[in-house]
Amino acid sequence: PTDVSNSKKRKRSDGPKPQSQSPLAIKKQKLLVSRQNLPIWSRQKDIRESLRQHSILVLSGETGSGKSTQVPQFLLTEPWCTGKIAVTQPRRVAAISLARRVAEEMGSPLGASSPASKVGYSVRFDDNTSAGTRIKYLTEGMLLQEMLRDGALSQYSCVVVDEVHERSVDVDLLLGFLKQLLESGKRKKPLKIVVMSATADVESLSRFFSTPTPKSEETSNGTVHGDDEEFQGFSDDEQSTPAEKSQVSTCRVEGRQYPVKLHYIDKPTEDVVDAALQRIMHLHCKEPMPGDILVFMTGQEIIHGLQKLVEELAGNLPPEYPRLLVLPLFAALPQAAQQRIFERAPPNTRKVILSTNIAETSVTVPGVRYVVDTGKAKIKQYRNRLGLESLLVKPISKSSADQRKGRAGREAAGQCFRLYTQQSYEELEKDTKPEILRCDLSNAVLKMKARGVDDVFSFPFLTPPNREAMEKSLLQLLLLGTLNEDGKINDIGRKVARLPLTPTLGRIVLEAARPERDCLLEVIDIIACLSVENIFLPTDTEEAREKALEARSQLHRRQGDHLTLLAAVQAYAAETSDRKRWATTHLISHRAMQNVLNVRKQLTTQCKSLLPNPTVRSTVDEDTQENILKCFLKGYHGNNIARLCPDKTYKTFAGNQTVAIHPSSVLFGRKVEAVVYNEFVFTTKAYARGVSAIQLKWLEDVWGSS
Ligand code: ADP
Repeated sequence: PTDVSNSKKRKRSDGPKPQSQSPLAIKKQKLLVSRQNLPIWSRQKDIRESLRQHSILVLSGETGSGKSTQVPQFLLTEPWCTGKIAVTQPRRVAAISLARRVAEEMGSPLGASSPASKVGYSVRFDDNTSAGTRIKYLTEGMLLQEMLRDGALSQYSCVVVDEVHERSVDVDLLLGFLKQLLESGKRKKPLKIVVMSATADVESLSRFFSTPTPKSEETSNGTVHGDDEEFQGFSDDEQSTPAEKSQVSTCRVEGRQYPVKLHYIDKPTEDVVDAALQRIMHLHCKEPMPGDILVFMTGQEIIHGLQKLVEELAGNLPPEYPRLLVLPLFAALPQAAQQRIFERAPPNTRKVILSTNIAETSVTVPGVRYVVDTGKAKIKQYRNRLGLESLLVKPISKSSADQRKGRAGREAAGQCFRLYTQQSYEELEKDTKPEILRCDLSNAVLKMKARGVDDVFSFPFLTPPNREAMEKSLLQLLLLGTLNEDGKINDIGRKVARLPLTPTLGRIVLEAARPERDCLLEVIDIIACLSVENIFLPTDTEEAREKALEARSQLHRRQGDHLTLLAAVQAYAAETSDRKRWATTHLISHRAMQNVLNVRKQLTTQCKSLLPNPTVRSTVDEDTQENILKCFLKGYHGNNIARLCPDKTYKTFAGNQTVAIHPSSVLFGRKVEAVVYNEFVFTTKAYARGVSAIQLKWLEDVWGSS
């Protein structure tokens, strides 16, 4: 009976409504047609039915089949769905654009804009939800944060874990926590879990959820630290919870795939930018319209470089050729610019989208018939021996290459041009390794500890990380002062875990809040800069570099980049007349600065409880400068420090590696006793980026204190 009444209800709300003429309702009606054409639409009944029977649904289907937008809407009217639905995304861009799209499809205003809004999103430093939000798109990290505060997720009836194939560390943690939560039996109301993936390893995911977690002595006694009273951890008497009966169902949605003709190059090329440029221009001039081009590149800088070149060549084409509209797409791009990729190209215009791997599965670009694939991506890599995490340009995996190719055949037959040889393709690894096998685990371990998982080695991981890497991060967290000698999380650790920052940055903020240091506001300003894209506009030529040096000379601080960033934020914030003009004259990105101020506002609010009345200063005196840098030393606890050796090179404290100061630093070319730096990067050689001068005698003061 519930079934019938429900489908009637749906029909009523989805059907034509001649009386409602609001723009939202008109748009909703228009979008309904395209929704009904999505491959997933025909599976609506199966999906609803399987979640009435089971707690967990593993759903796989090609990108663009409608999973992320439709599944939450299908489930919203189910009888068990009395609370909210959380839909997690690995990327901010996807969380925001999906929320926007689904709000339109439902005829609802978005987020905090109206109490009537049913759809919202929450990403780091931007919570756009209202009391009435029923469907909440959020990044995996945000849901993890919510789980630290409310371990039982009591506001939610359903968690949709989307894009699991991306296998971020956060999604692996989330899957483990959700599994533990279901097994604990501590939920008063049912919690349904939908796990969605483009190329899902359906079998391993269902096995993961249907195999009970072996209990270790420590986990079974662990308590969850958090504000909720409902959920108190995983105790022995919960052995016979429903999780042990088979709770998992699976469903596969067939996507639409037209044939894609594949082309390789004959000889490997060194210059992929040039190869991509040639290919784009060739396609544009020879291939019929319509047919947009999607190019996969590695990162923002190279994308901007290629954009300039394409625009230049396209501008010189004779008028009988169609126009070419170049649109970049990368994670740090602002919302409005990202939205443009979803719009159809104007008449007689071909779109060419230059994208990082976010267009591989996270977003669907309509209109694409041609894919150009450079075969590379920036991939996070952790080097255990050095204890370093860095983004490196690496060859992609076969499955990524196949995903990229598939983007050409969504709406009609297409072509894919691989800018590498067939042999190189054959030599690629089959799949991209999950991030948990190639990153610093301290953040993950601290989150587990904060959720009361004391024995992190017995945590239910989809892919267990290397034991040595886990031990290393436990040691790091101990040195950072976030764990006690017995490995249990302490008060500092709990505070750090709740900040939306890495343990290192969180520890730096906490240090700044100590009354002895009292430089919280200044440190927040610097950390806000480190959390957004580079605030300084890039200088790719020597001439540009000199111009920038001159333009920013008032902001430069002898002590280095940290205090220079602080000076820039403070000067920008103090500018009351025309901030945009100020940014332009100082060759600083106005957009990045707006982000910095936003992050700074949010961090300041979140840190209120750490230090209720931080000192507000208009100028930063010498003592404060020293204190600021000491906070960074505290957070880096021996890492990210280098001292000048008799041979006039800098060598790292930990590891004794030679490292040079990056040309982008204000300390470039200077020799000082020792330096602290934010980042170790390896390009042509090892560089320290974000560098400041320190005195070795400070270390005792920093490391001597707890
Ligand atoms: P999946 O999760 O299976 O990849 P989605 O639900 O994200 O599929 O997308 C389904 C379709 O909805 C896309 O093919 C696209 O046409 C449309 N769509 C999704 N997001 C947006 C958006 N932000 N703007 C416009 N159209 C969108």
